Amino acid sequence: MDIFCKIVNGEIPSYKVYEDDVCLAFLDINPVTIGHTVLICKEHYSDVVDANPEVSMHMFDVAKKLANRAINKLNAKGVNILTNCKEAAGQTVPHFHIHIIPRYDETDGYNPIFTAKENVDFEAVLKEFKED
Ligand code: 5GP
Repeated sequence: MDIFCKIVNGEIPSYKVYEDDVCLAFLDINPVTIGHTVLICKEHYSDVVDANPEVSMHMFDVAKKLANRAINKLNAKGVNILTNCKEAAGQTVPHFHIHIIPRYDETDGYNPIFTAKENVDFEAVLKEFKED
């Protein structure tokens, strides 16, 4: 049983900020900013692509509400909402979850760095990637 299933079962305590029949949100144990929250599904799915679409849609709706709450109650100026999908993408807990990361300013602790690739053959990528 993974660590988030144990949180759902109450075997591991957490600082809960939201709960309904489908999902549960709690403060991340290693917050990158104040209010960093992890929203997890109660039923086990390993990641966003594995998750039942009804569950994931509901959870993104809840994530939006939590983002609004961070803006209204924590005075966040913005919010990053993200989900890491599989180990190669940085997922460390194999249980679908969405990070809600309130943002305050450029020194708030969260530094996502996007390094643009050069000389990309967009036509070749599209050929492989587009819908058949
Ligand atoms: P991932 O890297 O899988 O997208 O994110 C997993 C997140 O869960 C990490 O930010 C990590 O700090 C958090 N986390 C892992 N174990 C626990 C725990 O036992 N309690 C809480 N509150 N957060 C956890």
